[in-house]
Amino acid sequence: MGIFTSEEFNSLQELFEHEIKDLYDAELRLVEALPKMAKKAHDPALKKAFNDHLKETEVQVERLEEVFSKLGREPERVKCPAMVGLISEGDEIIDATGDPDVLDAALIGAANRVEHYEIAAYGTARTFARRLGNSYVAELLQQTLDEEGAADKKLTSIAERKVNPAAV
Ligand code: ZN
Ligand code: FE
Ligand code: FE
Ligand code: FE
Repeated sequence: MGIFTSEEFNSLQELFEHEIKDLYDAELRLVEALPKMAKKAHDPALKKAFNDHLKETEVQVERLEEVFSKLGREPERVKCPAMVGLISEGDEIIDATGDPDVLDAALIGAANRVEHYEIAAYGTARTFARRLGNSYVAELLQQTLDEEGAADKKLTSIAERKVNPAAV
């Protein structure tokens, strides 16, 4: 959320719509970033996890477009500075050289940070949608929230079972 820009919020509905535009920007950036993470990943399970989450992310973009449609709005992006920063942390690792297992551990750390931002943002947006009485939209956001949680757990499990032991 661009808290350093001068935006004005006077209702939970306005704030909610801003959050959706921010998430839309974040997800579109991830559609660009995840293929680079997958390409850099050395472990086949990690590569697959990134590619699987890319496919999910493409559906999450469509789900947000459905949210816009339900709100009677055209899809619109508001820059998500947090995702810009989180992706640039990932880019540091993509540009790095060194032991492939250690780099995999670093990629997972970067990706877990992304998932945690998304979990926080979708949790907030889902809770706003419920408060605004839009249970259909709340359910769409919950579906994505569940996918983000599962992606986070999947990455952690690959780290704990395979990548971190190899990186020691
Ligand atoms: Zn914002
Ligand atoms: Fe996502
Ligand atoms: Fe944001
Ligand atoms: Fe995600």
